[in-house]
Amino acid sequence: MSMSTRDVVASEIIHEAEIDRALEEARRPDRGRLDELLAKARDKQGLTVSEAAELMKIEEPEHLQLLFDAARDVKQAIYGNRVVLFAPLYISNECVGNCVYCSFRADNTDLKRRTLGPEEIRAETEELLRHGYKRLLLVFGDHPSNDVDHIVAAVDACYSARYGEDRIRRLNVNAAPLSESGFRKLQPSGLGTFQVFQETYHRATYERMHPTGPKADYDWRLTVWDRCLPSGIDDMGLGVLYGLYDWRWDTLALLEHADYLMRTYGVGPHTISVPRLEPALGSEFSTTSPWRVSDEEFKKLVAIIRLAVPYTGMILTTRETAQFRNEIMDLGFSQISAGSRTSPGGYTEEHPDEMDTRQFELGDHRDLDEVMLSLCENGYLPSFCTACYRSGRTGHEFMELAKPGKIQTFCLPNALLSFKEYLLDYATPETIAAGERIIARHLRQIESDAIRRQTEEKLRRTEQGERDLFI
Ligand code: SAM
Repeated sequence: MSMSTRDVVASEIIHEAEIDRALEEARRPDRGRLDELLAKARDKQGLTVSEAAELMKIEEPEHLQLLFDAARDVKQAIYGNRVVLFAPLYISNECVGNCVYCSFRADNTDLKRRTLGPEEIRAETEELLRHGYKRLLLVFGDHPSNDVDHIVAAVDACYSARYGEDRIRRLNVNAAPLSESGFRKLQPSGLGTFQVFQETYHRATYERMHPTGPKADYDWRLTVWDRCLPSGIDDMGLGVLYGLYDWRWDTLALLEHADYLMRTYGVGPHTISVPRLEPALGSEFSTTSPWRVSDEEFKKLVAIIRLAVPYTGMILTTRETAQFRNEIMDLGFSQISAGSRTSPGGYTEEHPDEMDTRQFELGDHRDLDEVMLSLCENGYLPSFCTACYRSGRTGHEFMELAKPGKIQTFCLPNALLSFKEYLLDYATPETIAAGERIIARHLRQIESDAIRRQTEEKLRRTEQGERDLFI
């Protein structure tokens, strides 16, 4: 299980030649072959790299439809209608990196730099609590002012914030990769998922995109989980920034990375993020990249990832527009952000998301309640559930339950309980009406009579004022 960082080399994780070969040799599947591939995926057996490459070749509208239907079925079978909501909380836009696509890059002198202190973090968190959020993603630029001690202090400040009785129940972190001792220092702070996106797995492109600073080291970033897992932080968030290189290549490499983690440690990624490149202040590349991914290509890659790694949560952010988010949600996403601001201080200050402090442009500007209402109107069950993580069901243990579908036993009741709290404490009348219908409909879907009765009883206790009940 445990492996020292020194033993891991990038070529064990990403096999460039194999990816090149898979893309070169893949043939567009005929109907018979397509049915075969989709049957395997529907059976939740995942897909190999060469099988995924075949699906990337599909062009016929009818075959694309079959691909999307299969992705929807797998998403339904594993996640049902539940969608978990969170907001990013930008702690710092100070950065020594020089990522050519990002407004935070050190050479961008037009950006106003800022790192929030503990009081400011508490104020931002209280503002988010006031709207009903229970889960946040803390985002940090790569800078000495964001070293592990500062990350721990930020996590503590965030967890210590209160709005009435409410507090944040799960914090995830997106930051530069740490050393093994850094992860060991961070572990006791009680964070959930640690996110590090490789951005692009294609080494030559990676080197062009990250010319200077610590992020220029491709191998250090790629081997982050080999340092993270031994610390006991076992919810890993992987991602590709789509638009830096060929989406096909990067998707196959992402699947190789997930497969490496599963083979080596018996734990796959907890989440996969698929951000698409958005215009960023001071980054010409962010608007001129030749690799920008179209909506149609994006839908294809989301469906293929859903089928290839069925047990990994997929995250959809407010980089995408409200309309497009509604269109693609059911292709595989289980977590979405809502009401996001991408500048430090963006939730509490007069002019949120000013051009000169934010990371990139957003596509969805709706607030949390509008997103909740729209989810309900489209038949989804919004969830703030954090039960697995707080009951120790993470990493390996989570996978053991997820694979045979046992995690469903917990997910549906806990989604209902956390959503009920939101309706009682924070929702607008319109969302309450739509939300109560969603709760009634989903309560009937709990298969076990005993668990349904337990859930009904906890829903009643929630109505009477108890909070944070879960199964
Ligand atoms: N310092 C951390 C690190 O080293 O990963 C955090 C980087 S950044 C604040 C978080 C993520 O935003 C990046 O990993 C990247 O994928 C994404 N990002 C950067 N620029 C972007 C852009 N122009 N459009 C969309 N996403 C972007």
